[in-house]
Amino acid sequence: MTEIIDGNAVAAEIRDELTDAIETLADAGSRPGLATVLMGEDPASQTYVNMKQRDCEEVGIEGVHVEVDGDAPAEELFDAIDDLNADPDVHGYLVQSPVPDHIDYRDVIRRIDPGKDVDGFHPENVGRLVAGDARFRPCTPHGVQKLLESAGIELEGADVTIVGRSDIVGKPLANLLIQKAEDGNATVTICHSRTDDLAAKTRSADIVVAACGVPELIDGSMIGDDAVVIDVGVNRVDADNEKGYELVGDVEFESAKEKASAITPVPGGVGPMTRAMLLYNTVKAASIQEDVDVDL
Ligand code: NDP
Repeated sequence: MTEIIDGNAVAAEIRDELTDAIETLADAGSRPGLATVLMGEDPASQTYVNMKQRDCEEVGIEGVHVEVDGDAPAEELFDAIDDLNADPDVHGYLVQSPVPDHIDYRDVIRRIDPGKDVDGFHPENVGRLVAGDARFRPCTPHGVQKLLESAGIELEGADVTIVGRSDIVGKPLANLLIQKAEDGNATVTICHSRTDDLAAKTRSADIVVAACGVPELIDGSMIGDDAVVIDVGVNRVDADNEKGYELVGDVEFESAKEKASAITPVPGGVGPMTRAMLLYNTVKAASIQEDVDVDL
């Protein structure tokens, strides 16, 4: 029987742990605060920030939302960032991407106080992660690690193939999984759009992580017997239903399930974990800034 790894259930466990940590902070007179910054009116981004704000409310994090006009000059966004850097009640924040075309997202990331960079994208935090001294693990890779741990998947010595080399998923995940640590010690192959014979590289892996943004690219014929499949992808494809679309992953679930020993569904796999790990990083940021020990 193939195990379906339930991201909603694991995320709920993490939220429970966070509730305890938030109580510890409250006993010390502090409440973690997370701000979301949205520049422009991209509907998908609006949905994402709304979800993040709702998540905050549910676990007892103080949510703050800042909107910047999509046509405003970069300075207006930078002023908002400077205000958040200076606000002692905001322990962490993120600027939702994509930002409008006249803004360079790298300038945005560099402006964020690294101690409040709960996405973990600031160059200082990227450097710390690569050096094995992560302050904030980026939310999606961290969520993938937690899912593997919850399913009891042995990483030490495992061959992992990651399909995708983005700065937010593929690269940080590879760095985490190769580290000399209990949740590392894997041997990692990173694939991308120029990789030769992708199927050979996924088929030989004990664990396949699909993060390429191509709907159902990885099918059962590309999965080795009893491999573990983690599907990071979230893609909207046209469907004959009320909404007119459905969400599918980067893995063709039904055929991959036939081969895999364990697999994550879409939705309900990595997605809820990404959201939970953002809350985790916020509580961690608060515990560091308030100098309160919490059990995380
Ligand atoms: P990016 O578009 O930034 O990166 C995609 C990567 O996949 C690139 O490295 C690209 O290669 C590679 N790629 C594209 N096509 C192929 C192909 N045919 N064969 C092999 N590699 C390929 O995507 P993200 O990392 O931001 O996101 C990946 C997926 O994960 C998306 O579906 C996204 O929606 C989803 N996602 C889900 C999250 C969640 O919480 N569940 C969070 C973040 C992302 P190259 O570098 O050569 O272009």
